Amino acid sequence: MIFENIDYLKAINLFGLNVSTYKPALLRCIINFSRKGEVNIDWGDLSEEFFNIYYDRITKRNLPQLFQYGRISKVERIIKKYQIGKINKDRALSEISDECFNDVVPRFHTIGMNSKIAKDFFYEFNFGKNIILKDSFNSLVEISYEEIIQDTECRWSTLEAAFKKNQSDYNHDLVNNIRDVYLQSGYGRTNITSTKPFLLPFQGDVCFYCGTVMGDSAVDHVLPREVLCHDEIWNLVVAHSHCNGQKLDYVVGPHFIEKLIVRNENIMGSNHPWKQKIFQQLGKTPQKRKENLKKHYENVKIVKGNRFWQGDESYNPDKDPLYKKLISILNGYK
Ligand SMILES: [Zn+2]
Repeated sequence: MIFENIDYLKAINLFGLNVSTYKPALLRCIINFSRKGEVNIDWGDLSEEFFNIYYDRITKRNLPQLFQYGRISKVERIIKKYQIGKINKDRALSEISDECFNDVVPRFHTIGMNSKIAKDFFYEFNFGKNIILKDSFNSLVEISYEEIIQDTECRWSTLEAAFKKNQSDYNHDLVNNIRDVYLQSGYGRTNITSTKPFLLPFQGDVCFYCGTVMGDSAVDHVLPREVLCHDEIWNLVVAHSHCNGQKLDYVVGPHFIEKLIVRNENIMGSNHPWKQKIFQQLGKTPQKRKENLKKHYENVKIVKGNRFWQGDESYNPDKDPLYKKLISILNGYK
């Protein structure tokens, strides 16, 4: 069977993993370059075009660009940071260049699950350097420009509509406002693993999520970092790697928030300098700290929805050993 170039492009456009809109966006970019006669596309120019296309689209239409409920894509986050003045254009472009092409550029030619049939058909690339468009693509842009633009736009809108439907109970304006507030004060990832020995005693030396003896462990953000954009102590706990792996960035059930409040008060009872940070960030009195932590929890629920992760089935919060520890009693747990 011989297929035309346009058949390949239509198949590529139509059958992707569909978890984001990166593929139509990349297609739109390379169409624009080919149209201008630029067939050797510098990575920086690609990043700028990608940014411009998304910026234009998001500011005009404000539709979700990712399927997953309660999450935003990397490109949306970068554009938001730019919009609220957290980063400048150069920084935004360098983040796009570093973070947004890892999947889409190598996988652009994949049709459904098949990565072989159209491999390198329309371009070749040197990751981080350039994309070289082939004649198969350039001739298509020359002959069928209107049609492929229309197909791309149609695919992109279809994905947005599907993502919006998946998030239909969403208050987009409110969610955007909350995200912006956290992005504004947030920062990039720090080394949180080093906090492990500090954190463990204050949570009774057991896993925060299942209450059993620690083994292979990881430091976890109780409220998802994806929303809060920080690594502050009041939100960090130590958990088994497997408990951490179950929790991912789901919203935890309210009993874990109650527990986090107790854990934080244990830190407040210590003389460690880090207690000052909790003091500044959550408040001067136990009551204030509790209220503020709950406020963050409410914000996260608005952003990510009320789909809780309650912990392992065998975990019973009423029997959690932390509540019976001397440190918890001493620090005000009743
Ligand atoms: Zn555990």
